[in-house]
Amino acid sequence: MAYQISDDCIACGACADECPVSAISEGDGKYVIDADTCISCGACAGTCPVGAPAEA
Ligand code: SF4
Ligand code: SF4
Repeated sequence: MAYQISDDCIACGACADECPVSAISEGDGKYVIDADTCISCGACAGTCPVGAPAEA
């Protein structure tokens, strides 16, 4: 399953820089993950300061 970013996201952008497949982009007030591109590597979850990304 792809990862998803919860509403806890503070839109810092750190995860987008770490994603190896560029699946993360800035959305409306928070960052979002393209489920079709995400390979569930977990790098975003390991980078996020507030623990917003999680496996769906
Ligand atoms: Fe990108 Fe990996 Fe996070 Fe999926 S789990 S959005 S591939 S960093
Ligand atoms: Fe949001 Fe966390 Fe990504 Fe920062 S690292 S944009 S808080 S999901």
